[in-house]
Amino acid sequence: MKKVKSWKLMCVLMVAAMFVLGGCGNNNTAGNNNAAGTATPAPGAAGSDAIAKIKERGKLLVGVKYDTRLFGLKDPASGNVEGFDIDISKAIAKHILGDENAIELKEVTSKTRIPMLNNGEIDMVVATMTITEERKKEVDFSDVYFQAGQSLLVKKGSPITGLQDVTKETKILGSKGATSIKNIKEKVPGVTVLEFDNYQDAFSALKAGQGDALTTDDAILYGMASQDPGFEVVGEPFTDEPYGIAVQKGNSDVVQAINDTLDELKASGKYSTIYTKWIGKAPTK
Ligand code: GLU
Repeated sequence: MKKVKSWKLMCVLMVAAMFVLGGCGNNNTAGNNNAAGTATPAPGAAGSDAIAKIKERGKLLVGVKYDTRLFGLKDPASGNVEGFDIDISKAIAKHILGDENAIELKEVTSKTRIPMLNNGEIDMVVATMTITEERKKEVDFSDVYFQAGQSLLVKKGSPITGLQDVTKETKILGSKGATSIKNIKEKVPGVTVLEFDNYQDAFSALKAGQGDALTTDDAILYGMASQDPGFEVVGEPFTDEPYGIAVQKGNSDVVQAINDTLDELKASGKYSTIYTKWIGKAPTK
């Protein structure tokens, strides 16, 4: 009897909680899109004024990779930074500020991107960053904007043809702060991993014979392989790496603006154009 009563009470409380949460969500939306177009936060909403601050500054500060071909690569001659992540960043700047050039790109690495975001140096990270539960404790993420999977890059003719050939004796190279390091250690317990500050250094080390394979997302590895015909991506991807754009926790207005931009890009076909330009064939989803 007692049990039944407490169950009933729990149900009532859960329904009440859902109602309150749902109500807050609606208020929040109304608050951000009110008729006057002002940034007045709705009562009870987090009340992020991050977009207002970006508009006041007139410039979007975005953390991107400078050493990752196809996603974010700085051309040392021209100084231009180019790639899939850059085109997505420009679309977000256009959505928020009406001008895709109202943007300042700052270099991040896998290790520095969360600290740089959380100390306010950048408004968002658009840098081949996988959405993980662990990272969600430190930052908020947009919807998924690219789907990658971890793989291996080796010198052509290597005895490593996929994850099944990686043993404790294999020397793996990777970038500090990347999911790939933790993943490979979980897949092959005891494996030796040499960690570098960025992917360019890791690739140089592979070329110099300091390791047997470089591991990170397949899309990044294809970018490296296209630079040097002596290297190839082997095996099937062995993890899911859904990329998200990270913002400081609580900046719900920025997340909303990013997700709206991604929806617009997909609806207009521009997402497919950007994808095809950098990655090759158009996405299937
Ligand atoms: N997507 C993986 C990550 O977020 C690997 C690529 C990178 O290091 O940026 O860690």
